[in-house]
Amino acid sequence: MTTSTSVRARFPGDGRIDFDTVTLGPVAEGEVRLRVDVCALCGSDKRLLRSGSTVVPGHEIGGTVVEVGAGVDLPTGTRAIVYIPVFCGTCRRCVAGRTNQCLRLTQLIGWQRDGGFAEHVDVPARCLLPVPDDVPLTTAVLGLDTVGTAAHALRLWQRAQPDGVDRALVVGAGPLGLGVISVARAFGIGAVDAADPHEGRLATAVALGARAAEDLESENQYDLVIEVSGVTAARETAQRVVAPGGAVIALGESDQPYTMPATPRWRRTDLFTIRSFYFPTSEVEANWDLLRNSGAALRDRLTVPLALADLPEAFARFVAGDYLKPCIVSEDAR
Ligand SMILES: [Zn+2]
Ligand SMILES: [Zn+2]
Repeated sequence: MTTSTSVRARFPGDGRIDFDTVTLGPVAEGEVRLRVDVCALCGSDKRLLRSGSTVVPGHEIGGTVVEVGAGVDLPTGTRAIVYIPVFCGTCRRCVAGRTNQCLRLTQLIGWQRDGGFAEHVDVPARCLLPVPDDVPLTTAVLGLDTVGTAAHALRLWQRAQPDGVDRALVVGAGPLGLGVISVARAFGIGAVDAADPHEGRLATAVALGARAAEDLESENQYDLVIEVSGVTAARETAQRVVAPGGAVIALGESDQPYTMPATPRWRRTDLFTIRSFYFPTSEVEANWDLLRNSGAALRDRLTVPLALADLPEAFARFVAGDYLKPCIVSEDAR
């Protein structure tokens, strides 16, 4: 059965959300049409809400294939999550399996082409990550920004400190920080401290097994600090509390410059600073196991299911800090 119309959200700017209904045309060659079953809200979407977007936002998408374009050999009914960098597949990084480092990356789904705050979305077939039968889509979608990005950062870090560490600090207990906490043990981190000015977020971090950090002032406390907030003061904290020989993973996003304070203390400190972006498709298989172990707990603590029509309310409560990870979930996927 072919669906002919689809409702989608538009962000004209200034915090407004409108909906329109479009007639769906044929699916382009090499692409697939998904019925969107789940699309999670992300902190980065708040920027688009303010500035407006020419495309349909939403980049943490899980759905079901309803139609395929020419040249695509995938059965309808395939459940999948969507890999947002539209990688080329042929550059030397892509050929090596490092699709998140594509040298010809121009588009991110939900940023430069239509994303998932809609009933349907068309995506390149190579951006589909089929989901194993035993993983529900509401959990699978956490395999993108929340666990996929967290796990990739920790895999990069393992190359710097292959013996692991007894205790690490996570600065910023938003969804990504909580994702880091939930998979840390699997990567050789004995225990995790967490810091966040928001009480509810910190409580969630503790519920997921972290300990509330007590001292964010003293130097040389941690061999590993994961900075997830992107806030300048938190970046300074990370660089202060890390011990010589340690590592700082800079995961937080913001428009502010990332500065390294050239104080005598910093100049005399031997440490790794690791920046990472998203994850390569080659890591997806291993991430399903992480989600089988930690996904349900994470989903139950983080997500709030809402309907597409509730998107304005979802954003209002997300911006207010009431919801950690609201998810637009279709009737069929509830
Ligand atoms: Zn995101
Ligand atoms: Zn490439």
